Amino acid sequence: MPLVREKDGKRLHVKSRLMGESLVSREFIDQLEIAPQQRLFPDVCLMKIGGQSICDRGAKALPPLIEEIAENRRRHKMLITTGGGTRSRHIYTIGLELGMPTGVIAKFGSTISEQNALMVAILLSPYGGIQISHSDIAKLPTYFAEGIIPVMHGMPPYDYFAIRPDRGRIPVHRTDVGLVVLADLIGARTIIFVKDENGLYTDDPKKNPAATFIPEISAAELIDRDLDDLVIERPCLEIIQNSEVIEKVQIVNGMVPGSLTRALNGAHVGTIIHRG
Ligand code: ADP
Ligand code: MG
Repeated sequence: MPLVREKDGKRLHVKSRLMGESLVSREFIDQLEIAPQQRLFPDVCLMKIGGQSICDRGAKALPPLIEEIAENRRRHKMLITTGGGTRSRHIYTIGLELGMPTGVIAKFGSTISEQNALMVAILLSPYGGIQISHSDIAKLPTYFAEGIIPVMHGMPPYDYFAIRPDRGRIPVHRTDVGLVVLADLIGARTIIFVKDENGLYTDDPKKNPAATFIPEISAAELIDRDLDDLVIERPCLEIIQNSEVIEKVQIVNGMVPGSLTRALNGAHVGTIIHRG
């Protein structure tokens, strides 16, 4: 790499296309040619087991779901993340009452989602379930070669650096966002949110019985519709829309036996949100 001295003699650069750029200019970023993003693990099925929606139902929901995951382990490479749920909401309430900043609230969320990851990993341990941390992502090929089902906590590790939202102080990048960020990183083709409703409705079906089911929609259309409440965290939509590798995500009902298996096998169960 040749070194380049600026004409006024002040800065010494290593010659590259990004040399001397602030990396902020829109025009520069638009005209910069980059290689298409590689899919690192296209054959991995990535799924999040909901915290509030599934884990918090304990013995009523987890054992049959664990069994269904175990039954699929020879046919599918699965990477599992977990939500935080009710205990996150409890500590968020106390923290917010006590004036905690967004970064501390986010840190709370990470530790709770880690508890659920440990529980799911322990329940899956007879079938090769192992709890892993975010830094183990580079070891995924080894896990899959050994028939392991890795389980990771779902909060993206912004932690103390979580950006405060425009409303309130609850971090907007929680475990649903963690799943789509991870999906974009590994280029998974199958991305499943396991929750306790059949998918996306026009409103929260638990609160509004008149809400109607939406079987399929694009991320752009869903952003446009600007629904008051959603089944996945709102920033997921923009991340899906901007991704080079996420084609669709699926929301399935983990309380209905067989739904997850059908989704893993490529069937249209629940709601599909397309990139575009
Ligand atoms: P998780 O624990 O998996 O993160 P959440 O409880 O945070 O799940 O989110 C899923 C819940 O979102 C559903 O159980 C449902 O009650 C609620 N919800 C809110 N808005 C919608 C909507 N538009 N469509 C479907 N479910 C919705
Ligand atoms: Mg949630």
